[in-house]
Amino acid sequence: MSIYIENCPHIMEGYIARVCDHLGLHGIVEIEFHEGFIGAEGFTHGDDEIAYIDISLLDYNNHRYDEVKLKRIVAHELVHAHQYLSGRLSQENFKYTFDGELYEEYDCATSPWEVEAYELEKQLIDMFA
Ligand SMILES: [Zn+2]
Repeated sequence: MSIYIENCPHIMEGYIARVCDHLGLHGIVEIEFHEGFIGAEGFTHGDDEIAYIDISLLDYNNHRYDEVKLKRIVAHELVHAHQYLSGRLSQENFKYTFDGELYEEYDCATSPWEVEAYELEKQLIDMFA
């Protein structure tokens, strides 16, 4: 596993390593923290070799996320990175495949890969934040 992080807040460095270890991430993970709001708390895309994560440091009102919130966002996106790197999740032309099932239409909040990420982010926060 290789992790490359740009603009990483100091408080996040050890945390990210611990969460990645726990998830058993393999492959390459590139994380970039943005000094602004990028349209969502975080985005992840990738394939089974490399995952790209973008994280907002500020919310849509330009308020900085506190440490716990930021750790929650990072945990959520690392779960998605693991979904991509393990080959369970893939995305093409805005259509997702998850655990072998094609989703041409999906609801962001209730899709199975999001439900899993919301469940696991809570566990990861309890263990490592
Ligand atoms: Zn998500």
